[in-house]
Amino acid sequence: MHSNANELAQQFASDNYSGICPEAWAAMETANRGSATSYGDDPWTARAADAFRELFETNLELFFVFNGTAANSLALASLCQSYHGVICVDQAHVETDECGAPEFFSNGSKLLVARSEDGKLTPAAIHELATKRVDIHYPKPRVVTITQSTETGRVYTVEELKAISSACKAHGLSLHMDGARFANACASLGCSPAELSWKCGVDVLCFGGTKNGMAVGEAVLFFDPVLAVDFDYRCKQAGQLASKMRFLAAPWVGMLESGAWLTNATHANRCATYFAEQIASIPNVTIASPVNANTVFLMAADDILSRLRGRGWKFYTFIGGAARIMFAWDSDMERVDALARDIRECANQS
Ligand SMILES: *Cc1c(COP(=O)(O)O)cnc(C)c1O
Repeated sequence: MHSNANELAQQFASDNYSGICPEAWAAMETANRGSATSYGDDPWTARAADAFRELFETNLELFFVFNGTAANSLALASLCQSYHGVICVDQAHVETDECGAPEFFSNGSKLLVARSEDGKLTPAAIHELATKRVDIHYPKPRVVTITQSTETGRVYTVEELKAISSACKAHGLSLHMDGARFANACASLGCSPAELSWKCGVDVLCFGGTKNGMAVGEAVLFFDPVLAVDFDYRCKQAGQLASKMRFLAAPWVGMLESGAWLTNATHANRCATYFAEQIASIPNVTIASPVNANTVFLMAADDILSRLRGRGWKFYTFIGGAARIMFAWDSDMERVDALARDIRECANQS
């Protein structure tokens, strides 16, 4: 054991480097007093379900799973037969970061990938993929999946979502939303969860808890109860039914009842905006994509980035070669300033 496992200074490589926020932690601690019925038949799970229904202003069906890959894959599988196709963009997490899980859990539904410059799907791209082939030799398009906020740090506006939903309806497609950072989109747009989901025609939303301040856990929300039929069996078969369900549910109670889900995302977004302002005027460094949520992508020559790594900073460059800097509920402004300062110094050495 290290003498101090937390001695590493804060990094901004991903929002899942963050810890557990106080509200989620306190609810876990309270849930840990005594025992409760297993497999979701407990008061915490019921209370979390009520909190979701209240937050989304509708009588949705919901399920808790351990991570986003399971949430997305099982949700998509529930919307598809094995011979169906799922339309997404080339940067989508389901395409690039889920190891084929959507195809695996749907027994072969093919991802139909649209090229996108900015990580956003458009009605035109949906139309193109939905009509590209109508013969029996090609998977039948059945679902559209979009990510809100996107892997590229962008958000879809209400108008964009409505246009996507119209395109889905025109082609008989269901609409799934990967909301690993849904809270950041709500915070960014100042819209309610209802306005950014079912009111825009989203059928199933995977609402991320992990990156928003929980230890673990995502919620799969079905706005049409018919689509949720047998989803409990799907979760169990996939190893995603928590026997001590109260520990997946309780943090949601803490997050939703306190409003931490939104204040956490608001803080993360603010850090991104602030950081982008700090680095905007640095020569030899450019911000590669508009900052809509909690992510900043910066472009700089390799020698600048390697000097930055040399100073101990961690970041990924897997999306278009830009360095991804990502903020979370616990991002410390002094560390944000320190990173901006180091970027300026490393860039000035060019
Ligand atoms: C992090 C993330 C997920 C979830 O990933 P897991 O590691 O499976 O929890 C899903 N979608 C997006 C866009 C993500 O960034």
